[in-house]
Formats: sequence, structure tokens, C-alpha cells
Amino acid sequence: MNEATFMGVPRSRIDWSPRIDYAKCNDCLECVEFCPHQVFEVREAEMPKLIVKNPGNCVVFCRACAKTCGVDALSFPNKNQTTLLIKQVRKEMGGR
Ligand code: SF4
Ligand code: SF4
Repeated sequence: MNEATFMGVPRSRIDWSPRIDYAKCNDCLECVEFCPHQVFEVREAEMPKLIVKNPGNCVVFCRACAKTCGVDALSFPNKNQTTLLIKQVRKEMGGR
């Protein structure tokens, strides 16, 4: 199976996924219901209950689930920095 790419770069080399601030998260699970990409996992009877199980499933530059979070517990890497990193990797790979 071919690895997923974004802008010509292997998705596995792009660090883009939600970060959960556990000091704020109240396990309402709105974000889980909203995201169709199985990025999150809900673990019953474990702490923390909500984890980012599949960061590579997150759509690069999507931040949509953060808008569903009423307590502002989800954050993302800096978009400009991520764009620069993607460009760097492309250069390394011999692209432009
Ligand atoms: S940013 Fe988008 S793709 Fe990523 S977890 Fe949130 S809703 Fe899903
Ligand atoms: S929407 Fe926010 S508060 Fe609710 S489970 Fe997700 S991160 Fe936690």
C-alpha cells in the first residue's frame, strides 16, 4: 500500500494533529463525535479517557474539531511553521 502524502511529502513526516489540554478537557466527547477520521480514541475506565490515537489520520491544516470544544482544550501546531517544515522536507527529497 502506498503511504499517504500531503504536498508530496509522506504524511508520517508531518506533525499535525490535535493536542489535548487535559487540565481543561471534561470528556464531553464532542470532538470525537465530530471528527470522521478516527483520530481520537475513547478508552472506558482508563485515564485519560480521551487520547489522540491516530495522529496521522488528522487532515493536515484541519482544526475543525477545536471549534466544537466548548472549553478550548484542543490546540494545533503553528500553521506557518508546519508549512515551512513541509517545504524543508520537500527540498530534502529533491523537490522544489
Ligand atoms: S483537525 Fe479535523 S481531521 Fe483532525 S482531528 Fe480535528 S476534525 Fe479530525
Ligand atoms: S470537545 Fe474538548 S472537552 Fe470535549 S472531549 Fe473533546 S477536547 Fe475534551
